[in-house]
Parts: sequence; structure tokens; C-alpha cells
Amino acid sequence: MAEIRWDIIKNNWVGIAAGKALKPNEFPINKRGIDTNGNHVFCPFCEGYESYTPPEIMAIRPNNSETDKSGWSIRVIPNKFSIFNPEESLEKEKSGIYCSYNGVGRQEVIIETPIHGAELHGYDIDRIVMILNVLKQRYNVLSQDDRIKYIQMFKNQGVFSGASQGHSHSQIMGLPFVPCENPGVSEYYKKTGSCLMCEIIKQEKSRGERIVYETDYFLLLCPYASRFPYETWVIPRNHYEHFGAISDAEIDDMAMICKKFTGVMIDSLQNPAYNYILNSAPVNMPYISGFHWYLEIIPRMLVTAGVNIATGIYTNPVAPELSAQMYRQHMLNME
Ligand SMILES: [Zn+2]
Ligand SMILES: [Zn+2]
Repeated sequence: MAEIRWDIIKNNWVGIAAGKALKPNEFPINKRGIDTNGNHVFCPFCEGYESYTPPEIMAIRPNNSETDKSGWSIRVIPNKFSIFNPEESLEKEKSGIYCSYNGVGRQEVIIETPIHGAELHGYDIDRIVMILNVLKQRYNVLSQDDRIKYIQMFKNQGVFSGASQGHSHSQIMGLPFVPCENPGVSEYYKKTGSCLMCEIIKQEKSRGERIVYETDYFLLLCPYASRFPYETWVIPRNHYEHFGAISDAEIDDMAMICKKFTGVMIDSLQNPAYNYILNSAPVNMPYISGFHWYLEIIPRMLVTAGVNIATGIYTNPVAPELSAQMYRQHMLNME
């Protein structure tokens, strides 16, 4: 049974598949769905292979085709390999100095396209709008489950991103705890009563050197302390704590940005693997204000090294001011 164990040394949670052990040759390696000769081989996310996945949670079926059959445009399914169990109730266990919860939670996969090999930057804008609407819908459904305290959405694309399937998809995790990843947000609010991300928008706009692109609703920038080379954030100008509050006009704008910026990143960095990470406020629990949802886009140019694991510190060989300049030029060239 899965457990969520508290790491008392590093002050964070770790999901453990308690009582189970994958053999070294059973670890998920990236299955591209393509053999060494470039031929398409078995992929459970492809249209026509619906019976190989758990039953769908929801799907966009333009011609009202039958559930768990072909004829879909976007499909949402439970993650078959999730260590979280959506059925149990949350229970805490203490064992001397250690503490854990049972693995309550949800992990869903959004299969973004029926076409194997299609990728985000090549989708029609309409498809990206549909995907963002599905993410919003799932965010708001998961936030109704009061066992869930944090909703993390992300996308892994390419071998070095952690993707175990080559077919383009995103994921949603509904966690029974809040990961300790952005403590500065609450600390800043406690000290000043202001939203840190709104302050970042103000300061970055006044200098301009790290801004990649601006639209009516969003600001794209390479963050001041970028952990990864060519890391970029998409920050909504409107202060919403939760991604689930995004408006239709913002979804249209964000779809355009996702297509355009991903295309620029793919071209200018020679087709890197990448992660999209969507951060929001906790749900179903009291928390200190100051959260402002935003999207992190991280091209995976480097493998996490010993120094990162040892110290928690990242070293970045590309100054964010220069990565912003490079992206800015490419974005302009596309217009
Ligand atoms: Zn496929
Ligand atoms: Zn804000």
C-alpha cells in the first residue's frame, strides 16, 4: 500500500510504494511508441487502443462516440502507475520519530491528441484551448474533494523530462498535502501583506531585461534566480490564486502563448525535452494568502547533477538576462 512519509531531515513529503519493489529491469523507461527503424509500435495512448488503459474519467468526443472507444479528441484517464489511491480516507500514522499518511490522492493523465507524434507546438490553437479548458475543469473537480490539499499539473515531454510514454500528454496530481516548494510566497505576504508575484511583475516591467514577451493577460519572463538554463515563467497579470479561476479570454491568450513560445523553444534550443509545471494555491485548508498561479517552462538541457542533490543548489550556465534576450529576438522574428 502506498504511503506518504514525512522526511524529518529535509522537511518534505516522499511518496513510497510501501511493501512493493520494482526490479531494476522493471523501471519505466521512456517508451516512444517508435522502434529503432522509426516504425510505430504499440502505444496505449493511441486511438484504437482504449481497452489498454483504465476506463476514462472524461473525454471530448465531438461526434458523441462511445466511451472508451475510438472517436475522441482528448481523453482523461487515471494514471495506471500512480502510487495514490483515490478511494481511501486519509489516515495518519506515527511510528516513533517518523510520521506518514496512507497514499490517498489522485493522478490523472490527459491524452492531448489521438495522433502519435503530434506535439504541443504543432497543435491547432483550438486544441490547446480545449486542453486548457479540460485542465481547468479537472482542477475545479479535484478541488471539490476535501481530502485533496494541493493540485499539481505538469507536462513531461521527451526522454530527459521524465516522460515514460512518447505520446503527448499532461498529468494532474491531487495530493493530500502541500509540497514545501514555494515558502517565499507566504513569507513575503506575512511580512508585507502583498503578493510576491504581483511585485515581481511590477519590478520586471520597470527593468525589462528579463522579459521575453507580453500579451494583454500574461507576462513571459526568465526568472531572476533561474535554476535551469532557459527557464521561463508565464505569469497572469490578473491576480488569481487558483488556475481554476482562469477566464475564457485568458485561456485563448495562454493557448496562443503556449503554441508560439513552445515553437520558439523547440527551434532555438534544438528540440529539447521539457517540463511544463503549473503552480497554484492549496485547496481545502487554511493557508496564508499571497499565492498567484503561474506556469514554469523548463527545457531540460542538463541532467540533475550530484551538486543539486547534495546541496539543493542549482548552478545555471546561462544568465537569465541573456536567455530572455535570445527568446525575445526569436519571438519577434515570428511576428
Ligand atoms: Zn501513441
Ligand atoms: Zn498576485
